Amino acid sequence: MEQLWEQALGSLKSNLSAENFETWLEPVQFGGIESDSVVLRIPNQFFAEWISAHYLDMILETLQSTAGDTAMPTKVRWELDETLREKAQAARESTPPPAPRAPRATPRAPETADLNPKYRFKNFVVGPANQLAHAASVACGSDPGRRYNPLFIYGGVGLGKTHLVNAIGHAILQRNPRARILYLSAERFTNEFIWSLQNHEINSFRNRYRSQCDVLLMDDIQFLAGREQTQEEFFHTFNALYHSDKQIVVTSDVYPQQIPEMQERLISRFQSGMVADVQAPELDTRIAILQKKAESESIELHGEVALFLAQAVRSNVRELEGTLLRIAVKAELLGLPIDLELAKETLRAVAPNQDTAMTVEEIQRIVCGYFGIRLADLKSRRRHRAVSFPRMIAMYICRHRLGTSYPELGERFGGKDHTTVISAVRKIGGLVEAQDERVLGAVDAIERKLGV
Ligand code: ADP
Ligand code: MG
Repeated sequence: MEQLWEQALGSLKSNLSAENFETWLEPVQFGGIESDSVVLRIPNQFFAEWISAHYLDMILETLQSTAGDTAMPTKVRWELDETLREKAQAARESTPPPAPRAPRATPRAPETADLNPKYRFKNFVVGPANQLAHAASVACGSDPGRRYNPLFIYGGVGLGKTHLVNAIGHAILQRNPRARILYLSAERFTNEFIWSLQNHEINSFRNRYRSQCDVLLMDDIQFLAGREQTQEEFFHTFNALYHSDKQIVVTSDVYPQQIPEMQERLISRFQSGMVADVQAPELDTRIAILQKKAESESIELHGEVALFLAQAVRSNVRELEGTLLRIAVKAELLGLPIDLELAKETLRAVAPNQDTAMTVEEIQRIVCGYFGIRLADLKSRRRHRAVSFPRMIAMYICRHRLGTSYPELGERFGGKDHTTVISAVRKIGGLVEAQDERVLGAVDAIERKLGV
């Protein structure tokens, strides 16, 4: 039976994009066949919803055609298996076997250079948090190798770095379909490098990256941390391209100097051009991103739901999009409209996982940083507004994000009475509801720093 599943998986794999297959089918485990159902084990409930909506017919059909004459069940019983979550994670992170690239015929037809067709400038929403990186990327796209070379884009997970580098590639190809563009992750570069060393193909590797490339788009360079030999190779690749005015774009999750165990000379190369960051987008941009996504997926999204979601998911655009899709799938499956109620319910179901180990101290520290006051002042009895306002904001965020009891919060804020805490939380809560701009702005900025 296990074998049957493996075989079916094989043909499913050839019918799906690699990304969809890896995301949705690879983590699933076959749990046997019961009287009238196939048992599939999944990492979480969302898999059941998503697979049912998109791949179930295909899976059942494939199973049936693989089984031939034996009648296969036409139903599925889902079994949650928490341990698969780690496996799914590990599968995503493990290095794929390095795929040696076949030498390309020249002259070549225009090709997509491994770019993701979805990531273009026209569906990237620009706001204050990513304006600079976007402008620099657009400039690279229209005039590669000139003004911003190299371009180094850094920022946290899910904030649009990969989207921007792909968009640069598309823009260049649009103007010059013959441009030889290489887009790849530093991880892939590493794998190919090692593979070519082991297989005596280092010359063709070097040719490909140094001589047959007009634009090098290298994603997630932090992967090279501590990999001396690959850094060495990349350094020479970089120089060869740079000296022939080829555009180089590099992304990273941190600022060049903060990449651990990275050669100084590479860091100084990265800093020699344009360094631009992407930050977590503020509220308006998050709303616009949701609306754009809804539009492209033909999801009907009302303003109030968009506002609610944008307020609830702050730190990461991928998470924001994921939440929207999850709600859309749920609405479709249950035949419900996408309204506030459904949004709240869906978020409530995922919220516990998002709650990382945030502490009162952390919130206090970030509030102090935001308002530029000292921790001692925050905990003092001073009533000056410059101190009391941040204090009330901090109490409010602690209460809402951590659910800490009023008496305990009183303690943690320098031994105050619990009624003081209650009135602070009420007061800020009232201002939030009244959409007071100063309060909303502060709460939003602080919560983004907290990564919620
Ligand atoms: P990173 O590479 O920084 O981890 P990605 O580029 O993969 O992030 O972005 C994660 C998801 O969020 C992608 O689907 C991307 O299209 C989307 N995204 C990020 N920023 C924006 C934006 N400003 N406008 C539209 N979509 C965005
Ligand atoms: Mg990325």
